[in-house]
Amino acid sequence: MRPEDILSPTPSGVCCKCGGFHIDPTRAVERAVITHGHSDHARPGHGAVLATQETLDLMRIRYGDNFAGSTQAIRYGETLTLGDARVTLHPAGHVLGSAQIAVECGGLRVVASGDYKDAGDPTCTPFELVQCDVFITEATFGLPVFRHGDAADEVAKLLHSVAVFPERAHLVGAYSLGKAQRVIALMRAAGYDAPIYMHGALERITGYYLQRGIALGDVRPVRLADRSKLGGTITICPPSALNDLWARRFPDPVTAFASGWMRVRARARQNGVALPLVISDHADWDGLTATIAATGASEIWVTHGQEDALVHWCTSRGLKARPLDIVGYGDEDEDAPTEAADA
Ligand SMILES: [Zn+2]
Ligand SMILES: [Zn+2]
Repeated sequence: MRPEDILSPTPSGVCCKCGGFHIDPTRAVERAVITHGHSDHARPGHGAVLATQETLDLMRIRYGDNFAGSTQAIRYGETLTLGDARVTLHPAGHVLGSAQIAVECGGLRVVASGDYKDAGDPTCTPFELVQCDVFITEATFGLPVFRHGDAADEVAKLLHSVAVFPERAHLVGAYSLGKAQRVIALMRAAGYDAPIYMHGALERITGYYLQRGIALGDVRPVRLADRSKLGGTITICPPSALNDLWARRFPDPVTAFASGWMRVRARARQNGVALPLVISDHADWDGLTATIAATGASEIWVTHGQEDALVHWCTSRGLKARPLDIVGYGDEDEDAPTEAADA
């Protein structure tokens, strides 16, 4: 059996013929297995959806009760037989509920990792390394220039700024699923215990994190506060809100943006960000290459992002590697700058 007989790229996403399902399909399909709740991976309209309970819940929050014909939850480490394939989900360390999908058939194991990171994150189960024959990796930050560093150091910069400018409001742009909650948890880990305010767009997902027992401390909807009196406080908002009229009601705001893209200075400047925070929910170059090597896979398939450099790195180490040209990932990814934020 060849890996392509187990999983093959199609215009709708990676298809498992022996199991009769697609992984993170970009178009509506009969049976989908979904890695995590970001909108480029988790789309509404499929017949049956298999995913972790958290991913199913996040899809319901975003798309409403009828986001799929039927759903089935699967726990990390649990194995299901679908057709001739055995399917097991393992933590991906990307956002709450995120999973790598291991598919075994005819003695071969292929792992589709979705989006992942090997860096610590207090808001989700840590990435688990899975030995496999073929590893499908993302490459959002697949260039050697991307080295994220320690997220705690970035949060320390933010807290330092709050201490130095006690009259000014601090607005932190962070994507609504995963990043926003991680930044809050990192501030708590750094000992910041004042109330943290959140933009309305973050309320439901943050509420879900709290409901799942993720400790975020005193988090308050900013709509219930008088924004003109929020000097010296921190408010988390979607990146697109940083340049909105909404932001101007705060006293002399300092704008920060938590994203792996903040490594690129020009990008921060272009977004009018005073305080770029290099915090990413994707593996950086070192994380990607270390993970690829550690899986023991002899063949690597590379999706959404900077495929070429990673494919080259693999082949130069004697691994078989190819880019998977699937259109639709990354466009809406939570870690890619939005058009609004780019403007
Ligand atoms: Zn993602
Ligand atoms: Zn993605």
